[in-house]
Amino acid sequence: MAAVGFIGLGHMGGALAARLAPQVDLRVLDLDPGRVAAACAAGAHPAGTVAEIASECSLVITCLPTSGQVRQVVSGEDGLACALAPGSLVIDCTTGEPQVTRELAAELTARGIGMIDAPVSGGPQLAAAGTIAIMVGGPVEWYERGLPILRLISPNVRHVGPSGAGHVVKLLNNVLAAGHRLLAFEMAAVAAAEGVSPQTFIDVVNLGSGRSYATEVTMPRHVFGDALAQGFSLGLMAKDVGLGCQLLPEGVERISLALRVRERLLAELAALGPDADINQTIETYERAAHTAVATSLRPGQASS
Ligand code: NAD
Repeated sequence: MAAVGFIGLGHMGGALAARLAPQVDLRVLDLDPGRVAAACAAGAHPAGTVAEIASECSLVITCLPTSGQVRQVVSGEDGLACALAPGSLVIDCTTGEPQVTRELAAELTARGIGMIDAPVSGGPQLAAAGTIAIMVGGPVEWYERGLPILRLISPNVRHVGPSGAGHVVKLLNNVLAAGHRLLAFEMAAVAAAEGVSPQTFIDVVNLGSGRSYATEVTMPRHVFGDALAQGFSLGLMAKDVGLGCQLLPEGVERISLALRVRERLLAELAALGPDADINQTIETYERAAHTAVATSLRPGQASS
């Protein structure tokens, strides 16, 4: 396989790049030199600029915080749109805005360059394990062109519709994931306040019908594991849920649980800041129930 470019090496991008680096000739770029060094330690090669990546690669993956940065990398001065050769493909693994993605895909298509949106779900842990879910939007022919590289990341790849559809699915998934997580935290705190061990409560939930990723992975591995932080920031989750809520039909304010989840996340964001880990939101429910649920090390606490 020819050289592949990778732009954005954060918690998620870094995990995806580390998965690819031993398997392909990977050229990487990030604003943070520490992130680049980590990817190079995994076998990738550094690139100086977007234009350099575009001159060496006909397939470029982006995994950036928001569609704003993707727009800059694609449409900005010396961006991928003007630097990539016709016939090239951009795969955007960012959790992005469907409408921005459609606009960027149209701009690239006009230059003979393909773009598919391929956001991922499952966190850096599933990326490292090679089992992360990848949901792809875009024309089938470009999806098929991108499939071999996506399958090197994970076999769990699905084409879900036209351009932007991957981002729609991902945003709705994250509204569910955030809601499940906050409810799991709240109910575990209530269980503890009622004299039930939160671990026992979650063990039993996982045998029954209340289970979710939050109860099956987040609670045992992070809330009751070694470290509370899961590597997903509160700022990014609030962004995803905010974008997901923009897709809701008009007039649902009275009935929408998704809007209630967004409201809670915005309050947590105001209190904790965007860089807090999403799992730190458990402290709100611990305080409200006058109890402790998390036994893991919290961000900022040193291990003894
Ligand atoms: P992050 O904040 O950890 O990392 C983002 C990286 O992008 C940083 O290293 C930053 O330096 C780099 N960057 C920003 N602008 C850049 C630019 N113009 N050029 C080059 N590099 C640039 O974010 P993350 O957790 O890796 O998330 C990336 C995307 O993946 C987001 O859209 C997020 O919603 C999504 N995602 C994250 C997770 C997760 O668990 N972390 C899970 C699924 C999806």
